[in-house]
Amino acid sequence: MSKRILVLPGDGIGPEITAEAVKVLDALVGEGLDVELDEGLIGGAAYDAAETPLPSATLDMAREADAILLGAVGGPKWEPLDISVRPEKGLLGLRAELGLFSNLRPAILYPQLADASSLRAEIVAGLDIMIVRELTGGIYFGQPRGIRTLENGERQGFNTLVYAEHEIERIVRSACDIAMKRGKRLCSVDKANVLECTELWREVAERVVKNEYPEIELSHMYVDNAAMQLVKWPKQFDVMVTTNMFGDILSDAAAMLTGSIGMLPSASLNEKGQGMYEPIHGSAPDIAGKGVANPLATILSVAMMLRYSLGESAMAERIEKAVEQVLDQGLRTPDIMSEGMTEVNCEGMGDAVVAAL
Ligand code: NAD
Repeated sequence: MSKRILVLPGDGIGPEITAEAVKVLDALVGEGLDVELDEGLIGGAAYDAAETPLPSATLDMAREADAILLGAVGGPKWEPLDISVRPEKGLLGLRAELGLFSNLRPAILYPQLADASSLRAEIVAGLDIMIVRELTGGIYFGQPRGIRTLENGERQGFNTLVYAEHEIERIVRSACDIAMKRGKRLCSVDKANVLECTELWREVAERVVKNEYPEIELSHMYVDNAAMQLVKWPKQFDVMVTTNMFGDILSDAAAMLTGSIGMLPSASLNEKGQGMYEPIHGSAPDIAGKGVANPLATILSVAMMLRYSLGESAMAERIEKAVEQVLDQGLRTPDIMSEGMTEVNCEGMGDAVVAAL
């Protein structure tokens, strides 16, 4: 039976970059990849059409899909909306509904782009780290939350950081499974010196690794130190595992080490292996509609999809090699442009990857 892929272009540059990724998928379908594509609405586009950022039709299609390819959501147009119907709620809702608890964010520096990093080439050349971020728990979902008025009339904002043991166990296992396929080194990031919730995180991480993955070398690091170490000597890390909010911040810092936010894919998996694949960047309203967005992060997200949800590692590798080849050819979208290279637009980059395939 064909595997079903749901494409959710979303907002801003989302439709531009997903169109190029779909071209790559179509090229592979022409060579025997057995998938069927559906398309749905999410985020601001969905709000405009149905007054909700996550229509039930989208959710139904997402539940049926083997994998989801998402562009990006959000933009200034929807910022005045109540937080409950903002585009980002569509994305958070989808993650929660599908139980996509494990967010894999690789930070790989392509040698061709070493000069694009804000750090010196010797510090980042050859960088290959994987940040595993817990995605459905922690402070982004914890209750109670809100803004309340105190007795003295002053308003107070509050959120709750909570993790149950089973949530910590499964994300640590997910990170260990990845570490086993890489360098077998795992760094668990917490703030156990201040937050009880992450004191438990540390204890559970210790237990899971000791009992189930004795081959893995586990270390612990406070999040403030992890942020410093990432910019000081990032190559010390192999796999990092951390909470939702710490992972959100650290993975963006790691992304910047690679020089372009437009190059990095991500995957979010649930316990069934169903996954949502998306570039790590947002909807880039500043360049939306200009046709200049870099589609490579989305195209590389398709490679992750083939590897993690569709069991097609060989095709995943072909995409990754094709991306390297277009970089070797000197083709660059404006965000990664440098002297002596050839500037192409979003469509030109997508076409070049298809040609290289
Ligand atoms: P952003 O990632 O959209 O943009 C940051 C900068 O990177 C911008 O200068 C943008 O032009 C550039 N950029 C991003 N992707 C690029 C690409 N593929 N090619 C070239 N340049 C690229 O982050 P932001 O500006 O903080 O947020 C814009 C909107 O996106 C907001 O509404 C935010 O909520 C939303 N957002 C969505 C997601 C998501 O859908 N997963 C993630 C982050 C932010």
